[in-house]
This record gives sequence, structure tokens and C-alpha cells, in this order.
Amino acid sequence: MAEITNPSSRPRVLSGMRPTGKLHLGNYMGALANWVKLQNDEVAQYECYFFIADWHALTTDYADTSQVAPNTLEVMLDYLAAGLDPERSVLFLQSRILQHAELSLLLGMITPLGWLERVPSYKEQQENLAGKDLTTYGFLGYPLLMASDILLYQPQFVPVGHDQTAHVELTREVARRFNQFYKLGGREVLPEPKVLLTPSPKLPGTDGRKMSKSYGNTIQMTDPEPVVRQKLKTMVTDPARVRRTDKGDPDKCPVGDLHKVFSTPETIAKVYEGCRMAGIGCIECKGWAADGLVKIMQPIQDRRAKFTESQAREILEEGSRRGCIRAAQTMEQVHAAMRMTLTTEAAR
Ligand code: SF4
Repeated sequence: MAEITNPSSRPRVLSGMRPTGKLHLGNYMGALANWVKLQNDEVAQYECYFFIADWHALTTDYADTSQVAPNTLEVMLDYLAAGLDPERSVLFLQSRILQHAELSLLLGMITPLGWLERVPSYKEQQENLAGKDLTTYGFLGYPLLMASDILLYQPQFVPVGHDQTAHVELTREVARRFNQFYKLGGREVLPEPKVLLTPSPKLPGTDGRKMSKSYGNTIQMTDPEPVVRQKLKTMVTDPARVRRTDKGDPDKCPVGDLHKVFSTPETIAKVYEGCRMAGIGCIECKGWAADGLVKIMQPIQDRRAKFTESQAREILEEGSRRGCIRAAQTMEQVHAAMRMTLTTEAAR
């Protein structure tokens, strides 16, 4: 596999996901599909780094770590299934690159506590996961670990949806603070990454709420066609359409939202017309939605079937080796800027 040569000549992007188990269509449409587009963008020629944030899983699941490694493999297989290509992107595992921990520790020295306490997800997650004790140092510090994940690779862009921009903003603040304290030959070492806002379409789960593993309402990327059809059959619809003869509105129906993402313009037109005039039944409409989903999912599942777990493991190891090269370059600059080395000019 090619080494990272002349890495500064292409705009670098980096993003990652926690290994929470098999990924669902919300993960695919909100992140993976965008990453694949960036990877394959022949004009921008991004240098892409995508990783699995297994240490982040420990911030909430520290009491039972038994699923972190198996989930990591599942996520890696889903990355490959979505079309991430180890020949075009560096696909790596956070915990294989110890510099993530080192940079997090160093940035922790300069980050005011208040910055971490005010990250919106800190309070939200504590409330959402009330059954777990999240009054831990690791949980408070996870946005800083996230900042380190990013800054270690000095990317120009971090592709995220609207809901994650606060984390990138904190990363920018931390980089700014580091650069104020430490410079290398008068130059800044940790460039502030920019948010690359990627489309994250509204994707409801089967109960009409946002598709999320914690709600148990997901359609997984690996769900076989009969499972997809069955899940859609039980999906909630426009509450105004109780009987077949009641008129409905696809804009008030979660199935309508799925159509907007997965169906052809012709099908969507049929849905609007049929639903508003009570000319179609919901079962028929859900069947069309399932057709659209299956069409998108089939090539993904075909690709996944081409990889074994052992290949996924090897790809992750090789990507981590490549990621480590970039991480080591950054840390060399960080050490020199902080004068934490006895061997460079900067130390004198
Ligand atoms: S016809 Fe389709 S869009 Fe209209 S309420 Fe039924 S499932 Fe929803």
C-alpha cells in the first residue's frame, strides 16, 4: 500500500465514529455516504482519514467493555460496505495510535474546565443516559479526546452534520489556545480545522423519532430485504390517516420522509397524490418505500459480503500503521513547539 507522500498538497479531511455495533441507515445517510463522496471526489482530491473511535466507546460503556472489539469489527465491515476504500482512504483504529492519548493529555493541561462543562452534549447525555454514572473524568474529557483525534492529523476539514459542529468549535478553540502558548519557528503547529457541513437528511426510525440505536427503531445496513419490509410494515404513519378512506399528508408522515430520501421523483409524486387523495393505502405506500431502501441497500450488502472479518482486521491494522506515521509527524512538531524534547534545535 502507498505511503503518505507529500501529504500537504491535498486538502485533508478526517472523521470517525464510535463502535456502537452494526450501523444503521441513519449512520449511512448522515455520515458514511458523505465520506464516500469525499473520498471519490476527483476534483477536490481530498486526502481522507476515517477512524473508529473505540476509546470513545469507553466514556459511556466503561462498565462492560465486552462488545467494544466485536463492534469495532462490525463498524469496519460497514465502512467497507458503504464504499470506503483502503486504497483511497486511511481507515484506522483510534486505540492503535497512542498519540491520541498523548495529545489529549497535553491539551488537557491548557484546556479550562469550563470549556468542557459547557459542551451541550455533556449535560444532554447525562440526562439521556440517566441509568449510567457519567460523572467520570473520561466522560467530561471526551470532547478533548475528540479534539486530539482531529488535531493529530492537522486536517483542513472535518465533515460533520449540524448537530456536531459544537465539537469542532471546541477543537478550534483548543487549537487556538495551544497556538497562543506554543509556536515552532514562529509558526502555528495545530491549524484550526473547518467544519465541512455535510447533508444529513431527516431520517426517521420505525417509531417516527430520529433513527437511533438507543431508541431501538433502526433499520440496519445489514438487514435483509424481508426484515426491511417487515420493519416498514410496522412503521408509524400520519396519525390523521386512521382509515383507508382518510386523506393524509406525506409531510406529516415518517414513511413520507423515507420516500424523500430513498424514492425516485416519480414514486414521490405518486405518494403525494395518492396519500392526499386517499387513492392509495399505507401498506402499498410502505411497499414502495421498501423498494427504494432495498435498491440502495443491496449493493452495500453485496460489498460487505466480499470481506471477511480477518480482512477487515488486516485493513484496520494497515490503516493504523499509516495513520501512525502522520500522528508521529504532528507529535514531533508538538514536542518541539512545547520544548519537550532534548534533541532538536527548538529545545535550546
Ligand atoms: S399513504 Fe404513505 S405517506 Fe400517506 S400516511 Fe400512508 S404511509 Fe404515510
